[in-house]
Amino acid sequence: MESLGVLLVAPMNAYLEQELDRRCRLFRLWESPADRRDEFLRAHAASIRAVVPYAPHGVDAAMIDALPSLEIVSSFSVGIDRVDLAACRARGIRVTNTPDVLTDDVADLAVGLAIAALRKIPQADRYVRAGLWKSKGDFTLTTRFSGKRVGIIGLGRIGLAVAKRVEAFDCPVNYYQRTKQEHPSYTYYPSVVELAASSDVLVVACPLNEHTRHIVNREVMEALGPKGVLINIGRGPHVDEAAMVAALIDGRLGGAGLDVFEDEPNVPEALFGMDNVVLVPHVGSATHETRTAMADLVLGNLEAHVAGKPLLTQVV
Ligand code: NAP
Repeated sequence: MESLGVLLVAPMNAYLEQELDRRCRLFRLWESPADRRDEFLRAHAASIRAVVPYAPHGVDAAMIDALPSLEIVSSFSVGIDRVDLAACRARGIRVTNTPDVLTDDVADLAVGLAIAALRKIPQADRYVRAGLWKSKGDFTLTTRFSGKRVGIIGLGRIGLAVAKRVEAFDCPVNYYQRTKQEHPSYTYYPSVVELAASSDVLVVACPLNEHTRHIVNREVMEALGPKGVLINIGRGPHVDEAAMVAALIDGRLGGAGLDVFEDEPNVPEALFGMDNVVLVPHVGSATHETRTAMADLVLGNLEAHVAGKPLLTQVV
């Protein structure tokens, strides 16, 4: 792969960067000042045959246009909502992602957020640290997670892993997606509103595209209701964030556990003072084990491309 020119669009993983540097000809986009990126791309356009983006830093049509030698986009993420797939298809550029290896971590986090939100684990931790246990006595009562009805939007790899986990907590599993699956113990609902109305905890686990942007809107949140908890481990724009903040303030939505936000890393400050929400900074797949496995998949796809072998995880 020594001759393969690879553009890394942002720093994302030290091991991946080190291996790309060792095995290929690596270009780091962030080393060029933001206002001179076009110049940087023009200068290296003939050499760059591969681009490695990741969730927040994608590959748009302008970048694809600027890179006439581009052959493959190998994303360091399973979600490829920030890759212009139509532009890639039009140019015959191949696209790969990193499915499966991150499924368990993201599902673990979804369950962790649900338990943390209902049992107020971060708030209880802050209570102890602030010395309030000693000065004020017992912490407030919270709400049980075991046995709650869990609704999943998108019963794919991550959605199914969430379902499997919450079954162990005796939670009935409901789901919505475009295709009804034959699952003996999971109940299908034909719309997100009906799913929300029949769930105590609603988990977003579908891909982001023009059909799923704001799939959780005001109507869905009101169907979930004043005792319902929304868990988003999908993408921020799945949820109408302004409507969510308003519903949480008015008590029309009970609580939320959020890994992703509409305009990361900007999080609505109105959420900071709420003790019915748990906020984490897009860390669904952020474990040493998973990020190394994701890096190996990116490298494996690039190697397969250069060797003319079938790609490991091809999307386009
Ligand atoms: P997947 O296996 O492809 O599953 C996606 C599921 O969503 C499928 O069951 C699909 O079923 C459903 N779906 C697709 N379009 C839909 C629509 N319009 N309405 C409702 N459901 C729809 O994907 P995955 O590996 O589980 O990943 C899911 C998403 O999680 C990724 O795309 C990514 O955005 C997000 N993610 C987040 C993190 C994080 O760090 N927070 C990490 C990894 C992934 P149908 O086709 O039948 O509709």
